[in-house]
Amino acid sequence: MKKNDNGVLIVFSGPSGSGKGTVLGEYFKGHPEAAFSVSATTRSPRPGEVDGVNYHFVSRRRFEEMIREGEVLEYTQYNGNYYGSPAGPIREELAKGRDVVLEIEVEGAMQVREKFPEAVLVFVLPPSFRELECRLTGRGTETPEQIAGRLAAARRELALAPRYDYLLINDKVEEAAARLGEIIRAAKCTPFRNESLLQQFLSEKPI
Ligand code: ADP
Ligand code: 5GP
Repeated sequence: MKKNDNGVLIVFSGPSGSGKGTVLGEYFKGHPEAAFSVSATTRSPRPGEVDGVNYHFVSRRRFEEMIREGEVLEYTQYNGNYYGSPAGPIREELAKGRDVVLEIEVEGAMQVREKFPEAVLVFVLPPSFRELECRLTGRGTETPEQIAGRLAAARRELALAPRYDYLLINDKVEEAAARLGEIIRAAKCTPFRNESLLQQFLSEKPI
């Protein structure tokens, strides 16, 4: 029986500190067959970040060229820098049947929804706002002012959560990663992804 063999495009968003990176790290440990979309950005690499692995670090000029040439599926400006998802690799991986995960902010997620209505949008949240504050503080990568800014941004981002397909509460990392797997499995069961299978049923002759 033939199924729609394209991979699933998953958009993963959530406030800074909600645990997106941690949950995805856990998910990819168990799903090496899935692909992570490496975004392009004009921001400088942080210590430990590797070009081509964490991001493609490019100049503003190059990024603007990518926009003009239609090389990004979506993009946004965040804290004065461009961020965008290179379209070519995403389409290639999906066509090969690999699931592709985009870890992007809400504005970009809405652009993906427009271009890829079949994409699955997942919004990650910690169990409480207080826990978000604790995780951001505990991570120790931002100053108190930056943390305050991220918490304010979190409230704005949360306003768009109802436009996502799923809310994923990141209480325990392993459980959240497992639930993400369940969401993706469920997406593969939609009639849209099994159109050719439905067609085959309809075309079968009675015995
Ligand atoms: P994001 O990628 O959304 O900004 P991170 O993955 O960096 O968030 O996680 C923020 C902090 O919270 C990190 O210090 C991480 O270790 C911690 N964290 C992530 N998920 C959990 C969890 N389920 N329980 C406790 N701490 C967590
Ligand atoms: P950071 O600078 O902390 O790595 O990322 C800042 C924000 O940009 C995060 O919310 C991250 O999810 C988002 N982001 C990263 N890559 C992209 C992208 O390609 N497109 C969009 N729209 N947002 C992105």
